[in-house]
Amino acid sequence: MHYFHLMKIFCVGRNYIDHAKELKNPVPKKPLIFTKPITAILDRNRPFYYPEFSQDIHFEVELVIKMCRHAKHVEEKFAHKYYEEIAVGIDFTARDIQAELKKKGHPWDIAKGFDRSAPISKFIPIESLNNSKDIQFSLKQNGELKQRGQSSEMIFSFDYLIYHLSKYFTLQKGDLIYTGTPAGVGPVQIGDVLECFIEDKEMLKCAIK
Ligand code: MG
Repeated sequence: MHYFHLMKIFCVGRNYIDHAKELKNPVPKKPLIFTKPITAILDRNRPFYYPEFSQDIHFEVELVIKMCRHAKHVEEKFAHKYYEEIAVGIDFTARDIQAELKKKGHPWDIAKGFDRSAPISKFIPIESLNNSKDIQFSLKQNGELKQRGQSSEMIFSFDYLIYHLSKYFTLQKGDLIYTGTPAGVGPVQIGDVLECFIEDKEMLKCAIK
């Protein structure tokens, strides 16, 4: 946790058309933004302990960018200067609680921001990737491929997200943006092992305990 103090975690919902459709949500015209608290971070491949308050925790694999400079009112064309490193993360979601909250029109905080709900890999330079313009990522559950995505399929690009977020929030160095999940989300069970990849490189392993 010591790498990740004093920062904000932004997340984007429904940023891939196929995932918006699988949850029967409309495709958004503007980014759907929510946040997680710092205590959601689960780093260094530590295990995830299934919480007692939910019976339907889902994995959502996501590319995560890290701000390398303070950003406020950044134009989209300059936004690429504000991040250099990328990681893969999981946006764990208590789908049963989220469904209740959505029904009532209430905020998602409990369903999305509970302790350890944001596993994160180490960060690597975007430049080091084979194809930095169309970043491939995936998730395996117990060795079986469940989700595969690529950054070119995002409805709102990294640059657009920084433009959008920086209208409302001062983005600080170290802040993270979970940029949304492709189709294939699903429930986890105690005993599962999730593995997340960027290109062919295994970046993150998370045991469910
Ligand atoms: Mg998500």
